[in-house]
Amino acid sequence: MSDEDIVQETEERQPGISRRQLLGGTAAGLAAASAAAAVVRPAAAQPAARSDRVLLKGGTVLTMDRTLGDFAAADVLIDGARIAAIGPNLQAGGAEIIDAGHMIVMPGFVDTHRHMWEGQIRQILPDGGIREYVRTVLDGYGTAYRPQDAYIGDLLSALSAIDAGVTTLLDWSHIQTTPEHTDAVVKALQDSGARAVFAYGMPAGKPWWEDTSRHKYPGDISRLRRQYFNSDDQLLTLALAASGANPEIAAKEWAAARDVGARITIHANATIGKIASAVKLGPDTTYVHCAHWDDTAWKMVADSGGTVSFSPVSETIMGSQISPIQQALDVGIRPSLSADAETNAPNDLFSQMRAALISHNAMIIDRRDRGEKDLPKRLTARDVLEFATIEGAKANGLAAKIGSLVPGKQADIICLRKDRINVMPVKDPVGAVVLGMDTGNVDTVFIAGKARKRHGVLVGIDLKRIASEAVASQNYLASKVPT
Ligand SMILES: [Zn+2]
Repeated sequence: MSDEDIVQETEERQPGISRRQLLGGTAAGLAAASAAAAVVRPAAAQPAARSDRVLLKGGTVLTMDRTLGDFAAADVLIDGARIAAIGPNLQAGGAEIIDAGHMIVMPGFVDTHRHMWEGQIRQILPDGGIREYVRTVLDGYGTAYRPQDAYIGDLLSALSAIDAGVTTLLDWSHIQTTPEHTDAVVKALQDSGARAVFAYGMPAGKPWWEDTSRHKYPGDISRLRRQYFNSDDQLLTLALAASGANPEIAAKEWAAARDVGARITIHANATIGKIASAVKLGPDTTYVHCAHWDDTAWKMVADSGGTVSFSPVSETIMGSQISPIQQALDVGIRPSLSADAETNAPNDLFSQMRAALISHNAMIIDRRDRGEKDLPKRLTARDVLEFATIEGAKANGLAAKIGSLVPGKQADIICLRKDRINVMPVKDPVGAVVLGMDTGNVDTVFIAGKARKRHGVLVGIDLKRIASEAVASQNYLASKVPT
């Protein structure tokens, strides 16, 4: 895409932004980002030779911030954990310079619901539906997991997410068989370097609520708050993954989460109405799948300020539903995206963005072919790129920190190769990311300013050791679970 094309395209999308603001008037653009005002400093005023400053030079920058817009070519200055400045020709004496001229620079992808403990049993159910998933994975493998299995599953999932440019994940962790399982999973997230929301969930197997001899769910969340999550100024934050097994249990889960100020996430199907009779719905809750909701449920959640997470690949591959993207949009909720279960779905959000576009369009085509009028508008590539970044940040309660490139926000940044054969020559960068790219395009990944992937390779990871632990765990689990 030429400079002119990007300006033209962005002006059409954001009529309030002038051409000068977009490409020449960096200061004006930055001043508009009020969240950044306190930390934006002229790059030249920085002390020289600081090792934690990195200048990403000359990339095509998709900020995913509607005020800042896109830059055909600009620099992004990282200072410590944060983004210090964005604009053309920044001066940054002493910073390490990374040539991003052949890359698209954008915020890391944000996943809002992934069962990360399933890492070492990924892709085991290519043809399985939801019933087989519950029987084989949740009530089968899940009950055989030891703490070390939960650890390696989570670590694998986190590292492969980083490899795919996913810098933040919500770990929907329903593997809390004992407090030792919990500790192992938190350690895996810490070791991975990912930014993660640890959503503390129920034990594996049912009926877990009748046997409380091993697990301490949901009350143990108060220990977690004290032991691991007593600061919000860290990569890991806390949530509760609610079972909503029945209204009485839901009331206990909601109370346990809110007592410690944790967000709530729940797989929410048509029974959401019953849950809502037992708890007060609020903006602190993310609803996953939202399968078969009626208009009342949609309105109730929209009115409460709740957020939603769809997994278009697993939802269709497992035969559950066509992701209700349009239903969400109709009540003013812009959804986020998630990988869900790697047993049945890929780990990257390129796939989820494409699946979202495909399933939404398939729905429109089906309605058109049935002779319906007043069809909804098609989603755009930029819509789904927002779902995979800034909307994910909102659903994870982290929009003030991540999800877009804005000075002052955390430096969770990915650099995507646009000179690879699968997308070159790039003319429309949003089109290239959404329609053409895959994990192979992810050259560089920063999380809180730390390089976690460089030159297409994960940094500081002993893949041999991890692979050997993963194989040992998979073999152990396979020996315990009849197939
Ligand atoms: Zn799920």
